[in-house]
Amino acid sequence: MAAHLDETSSIAPDLSRYREWFDRRTAALPEKDAALLQTALKLAEQHYPQEMRVSGGEPVLSHLMGAAQMVDEMDLLPDAVAATILADISSCCENWQEIVTEQCNATVTELVKGIDEVQKLTHFARVDSLATPEERAQQAETMRKMLLAMVTDIRVVLIKLAMRTRTMQFIGSQPDNPEKRTLAKETLDIFAPLANRLGVWQLKWQLEDLGFRHHQPEKYKEIANLLDEKRTERLEYIDHFLATLRSELNKFNIHFEVAGRPKHIYSIYKKMVKKKLDFQGLYDIRAVRILVDTVPECYTTLGIVHSLWQPVPGEFDDYIANPKGNGYKSLHTVIVGPEDKGVEVQIRTFEMHRFNEFGVAAHWRYKEGGKGDSAYEQKIAWLRQLLDWRENMAESGKEDLAAAFKTELFNDTIYVLTPHGKVLSLPAGATPIDFAYALHSSIGDRCRGAKVEGQIVPLSTPLENGQRVEIITAKEGHPSVNWLYEGWVKSGKAISKIRAYIRQQNADSVREEGRAQLDKQLLKISPKPNLQDLAEKLGYKKLDELYTAMGQGEISPRAIQKACGTLNEPPPVSVDETTIVKQSKIKRGGKNGVLIDGEDGLMTTLAKCCKPAPPDDIVGFVTRERGISVHRRNCPSFQHLAELSPDKVLNAEWAAAQEGQVFAVDVEIRAQDRSGLLRDVSDALARHRLNVTAVQTQSRDLEASMRFTLEVKQVNDLPRILTSLGDVKGVLSVTRL
Ligand code: AMP
Ligand code: MG
Repeated sequence: MAAHLDETSSIAPDLSRYREWFDRRTAALPEKDAALLQTALKLAEQHYPQEMRVSGGEPVLSHLMGAAQMVDEMDLLPDAVAATILADISSCCENWQEIVTEQCNATVTELVKGIDEVQKLTHFARVDSLATPEERAQQAETMRKMLLAMVTDIRVVLIKLAMRTRTMQFIGSQPDNPEKRTLAKETLDIFAPLANRLGVWQLKWQLEDLGFRHHQPEKYKEIANLLDEKRTERLEYIDHFLATLRSELNKFNIHFEVAGRPKHIYSIYKKMVKKKLDFQGLYDIRAVRILVDTVPECYTTLGIVHSLWQPVPGEFDDYIANPKGNGYKSLHTVIVGPEDKGVEVQIRTFEMHRFNEFGVAAHWRYKEGGKGDSAYEQKIAWLRQLLDWRENMAESGKEDLAAAFKTELFNDTIYVLTPHGKVLSLPAGATPIDFAYALHSSIGDRCRGAKVEGQIVPLSTPLENGQRVEIITAKEGHPSVNWLYEGWVKSGKAISKIRAYIRQQNADSVREEGRAQLDKQLLKISPKPNLQDLAEKLGYKKLDELYTAMGQGEISPRAIQKACGTLNEPPPVSVDETTIVKQSKIKRGGKNGVLIDGEDGLMTTLAKCCKPAPPDDIVGFVTRERGISVHRRNCPSFQHLAELSPDKVLNAEWAAAQEGQVFAVDVEIRAQDRSGLLRDVSDALARHRLNVTAVQTQSRDLEASMRFTLEVKQVNDLPRILTSLGDVKGVLSVTRL
């Protein structure tokens, strides 16, 4: 029986084994790459102290060489292998950056830096052990997102996964201890799911099985014993089966690919628990997959398979005729294979396979039962494709490949840590005030200062990914309207809490606060305006009304400056103004110049809510009557729709521009009202030779608000246009809607 428990191997520190791999590998590499690896190893041997150990207890060099071998097998280019060997150099050598850059290259240095950051972070980040399972799952998910958000090169995550796999292999040889269980749990919570999402199957199964083995040793043993063969034997069975399948299918005129796997222990365990099955009820312990070009070939292939091996009655599922709710399509059958062992056979087209594996990431949401945000899922799908493509890239494509590993995909959200290692997600640009409110509204209200990485920082400091933040609170206190006023808060929660606080204040104190704020603003302005004039310019009849509005954080410093500026100008000549509404048909032809999943000619409409135009980042959404409606990716109504029906989201991009193609864009201008304003704005637009297809103006008190629908060729042109509109006298703000 002991042999069965050895599904996942335990590895003792053994440098000679890695020497052997290393020598063999460097002998096979081009000279330049081999030299790089040799330099890396030489540096490692020079700098790593003999007695230095990594978590889990393995000597550092043996640990990193083991991980480097896995990284090499993932085909991530030699820079990544060198960086893995040097992953711990920063803790052994002060000027390591210079040395590594000079002796290896700058990419290796960058990768090592990235690994360092991830190491620090995973050291501090903790899932709250007292939380409910749902909360724990949520926290683990946030941590995984943080890891991906932090790295600028996706290889850093893969290297980390290899290092963790190595650690898990090593602790198998160690006596049971609490650290072992903690590492195992964390592996199951964070790293195995990450490997799964990135589609790195070779690491995923090991992380899961090793994590399971050390976290729940009894359960692991139970299942290992139910399998009547060792993993290597099950692998051989599959390989043999695939060979037979290949030679049989070759007799027909069908283009195909086959693949297979023995189901790993943790996956067996999860399925038994989830489906309440006993071991005998699992038919996909041994499984293969056949990919073909067309749907008819799927059924032909099914016929061939059934004529070769006896199908198991009741185990055929046609998910092509009846796709699963998430869009999954495939044929599934179970046949009686050699030695009377059941084998699951899945048959599908390449196209279906691509969708199942990468499409809208519905694939793993179904597997993991989590809910997700669709932008994030699309990024993951993209990364998975990238990792998949790397296998098919020719040697000449390696340059592009290295560039493609660079990721700046995750820049709308940042992830920061509490002193207890809990990870919070905040919008990019968030400050310690947002952080405080995210922790608890009372902490936000009482927030008086903050430490980032142990250093006191101003409350206005934008936080960065991975930072540890601590809030200094007063015993009692309330928020400062200044926070809103100065634009120091970015998160919806903080803004609404501060506003709510202000609303509760009695009118007198709001007014007094406003007076103080205004005085402060006016210190920066000369000559001083007459206050009553200023109030009127901003649309308030009485000075007190202006104070109150200030106190409520409703007037920006810019508006004050602008208003003071216009007070000092001579009154403009008055011209009669009326609202113009001009109509011109927007020429778009049959198509909108949008490709859906790379295809043109599909019925698309540009969404009215957000009026997308090139080069906006766009997405498609399947509607009932209007074909595919195309939104800007950050459009709130799209995001709402995508949350409700993520499966209707499609990739969209702009096709090459067509002659004469224009896009409608809405622009809003707010200004101090004056006569001649509309004329001046229209002149500015005319100078850019822009067609205006609709104008709406509104004037309340002294503030004018104007909306224009403009026809532009490229949204790229907009910044220039907006700037020149902003220069028109009296204009306070110009925004694209
Ligand atoms: P599972 O064993 O279901 O946890 O799946 C683990 C991995 O095996 C995933 O990458 C699956 O895509 C792959 N897999 C699942 N079923 C099959 C099959 N019938 N043939 C080949 N690979 C499969
Ligand atoms: Mg399965």
